[in-house]
Amino acid sequence: VASVLFVEDDLHIREAAVRALTEAGHAVRGVTSGAEALAAVVDWQPDVVVLDLGLPDFDGQQVLRMLRAVSAVPVIVATARDDDKEIVAAYDGGADDYVVKPYSGEHLAARVRAVLRRGAPGEVGVPVIEVGGLAIDRRGRVARLAGVELELSRLEFDLLAHLADRSPEVVSRRELLAEVWRQPHGGADKSIDVHLSWLRRKLGESAREPVYLHTVRGVGVKLVAPAGA
Ligand code: CA
Repeated sequence: VASVLFVEDDLHIREAAVRALTEAGHAVRGVTSGAEALAAVVDWQPDVVVLDLGLPDFDGQQVLRMLRAVSAVPVIVATARDDDKEIVAAYDGGADDYVVKPYSGEHLAARVRAVLRRGAPGEVGVPVIEVGGLAIDRRGRVARLAGVELELSRLEFDLLAHLADRSPEVVSRRELLAEVWRQPHGGADKSIDVHLSWLRRKLGESAREPVYLHTVRGVGVKLVAPAGA
């Protein structure tokens, strides 16, 4: 059971998220302001914080910086603000993930799972992610398919690991640009296609006959265990 601190002043969003995360098996505490959030991080020491940016007392970006001064807890920023400046500021301020409203309870629960899998700095998380016959060891930066080590470039490994983290969800190109390419402003769009095709080749599949890597037209790409595996 992971403890999740949910910081959100909107009652409906808070209730829905607390319900979804509780159903996902977490111990959840909801608070409505930046001051309460900071106090709860210190007193309660949650495993994950989900932080809204539009709070009544402090701006969420400010709360994030204050929080980072006292804790290394993973922080998922969950906000209506979707412009690149805010997203970049949040990552620079120490956010581990960024979700734009509206999001579903399932989506949020998946993000929490992914952040927990990555583990807090200095903590022992679950370093090996398995999807079907694929095993991705983040710490050792090694990926194996059916026990055979894949020869991947740094970017290919990061791409595969990110898709595995989010599996079986579809990951948007925008998210890949922001989180794997670290280019929230775009510009590496072609690079995504090129690396996906190299990755496919190394996995022994093709866009026409996908096994693990599936493109969902107009949405993004997902990594899933092959049917029947
Ligand atoms: Ca708000």
